[in-house]
Order: sequence, then C-alpha cells, then structure tokens
Amino acid sequence: MSFDRSLARCSFCGRRPPDVRRMVAGPGAADICEDCLQLCNDILQDTTPFSAKALELASRPPVVIAAPPEIEQAVPTLPREPVRSITIKLEQKQQGMVLMLHQLQFYEKHFELQYLWIRPPFTVGFAFVPRIIFLVKDNTGTQWTGDRGGMLLARPELASDANQAIYQGSARFRPLPSADAHAMTIRAADPLAQFGDFLPHPWQFEITF
Ligand SMILES: [Zn+2]
Repeated sequence: MSFDRSLARCSFCGRRPPDVRRMVAGPGAADICEDCLQLCNDILQDTTPFSAKALELASRPPVVIAAPPEIEQAVPTLPREPVRSITIKLEQKQQGMVLMLHQLQFYEKHFELQYLWIRPPFTVGFAFVPRIIFLVKDNTGTQWTGDRGGMLLARPELASDANQAIYQGSARFRPLPSADAHAMTIRAADPLAQFGDFLPHPWQFEITF
C-alpha cells in the first residue's frame, strides 16, 4: 500500500508542507514534522511525568488520516481475558469532576486500569478523544506511565442527570508488577482541564492488593 506523500500531514500537529520544512515519513500514513520531533526530544529530556510540554502534546486533537479499508480490516482482534481482576471502587472529586477507579485487570504481559470519568458532557462537535494520563508507582518503587488513556467510551445509560456525562476508559501498563508488589499509588491528570489552570496535585489514589 502506498500513499501520496505530497499530501502528507504531520500526525502530531496536522500541518502539511509548505507549513513545515522537513517531515519524517513513518509507516502507513504516519508522518512527523521537525517541530514535533523537536518537541518530543524536549519531552524526553524532561524527567517530570506531567511536564507542561508532555501534557500539551497529549491533549492535542488527533490528526484524522483516512486509512484505506484494507488496513483497518487487517488489525486482528485479540482475545482478551484477564488472568486476575481486582475490584477497587475508589472515587475522588476535583474541579467538579469525579474520577472513579473501578478495576485492575492483570493479563499475561500487561495490566489495565478500568476507570469511569464523571463530568459535564463534552459539547456536540467535540472532535477529539479526551484523555486522562496516569502515573502508577508500586511499593517496590517500580513506576509506570499509562498509554495516555486508551479508548474512552461515552456511557449515557449510566448518567443520572443531564448535566453529567459518564465516560468509561482504560489505561494500559507494562510490564507486570513483581510478585512483591502489594500496594500502588495511582496519580492521574486530565490534560484538557488542567493544562490551562494546572493543579499542583493531580488525583491521587492509594490501593492495596
Ligand atoms: Zn508536527
């Protein structure tokens, strides 16, 4: 499958030539411009997990690139069956939004955090997928950052009033924690709401298992 590279747009900022000087072509229709590459380098140099630049990049709307149907169909659906599930049921409210951690699911090579995000509904025409960024640390000192939120699904059937919307999400982490791990601190930041008026303390949950 080949793409017309003259139509290429940066997958990170959406700009096309001649608005960007140089572009690095990735697999499929993925491209990255030199400005976004430089930004990624800056983020790698900064060891802060919730650095302003990382949050800005993570909260950008995704660049829509139409993928050919053959490629979409080629993505296999993996069987998903957790080896172990731990129900957490912890919730916290901040800035009028509630974050509810629902379950930790351990798979063979990774684990997932299932959560619900209860907040005012996103306005109609909201074109991009909002995300929560997670930082997890266990009692052995091992630390993970999530995959920037993964899929977030609107669950209108769970909302009890019109001013609230419930979104269901999961964040994925790897590798698995060691056998000595029995407690985790989970911190979460909502880049959309917090970037402009950054909270000194993101959501923080303590869990034991
Ligand atoms: Zn770019």
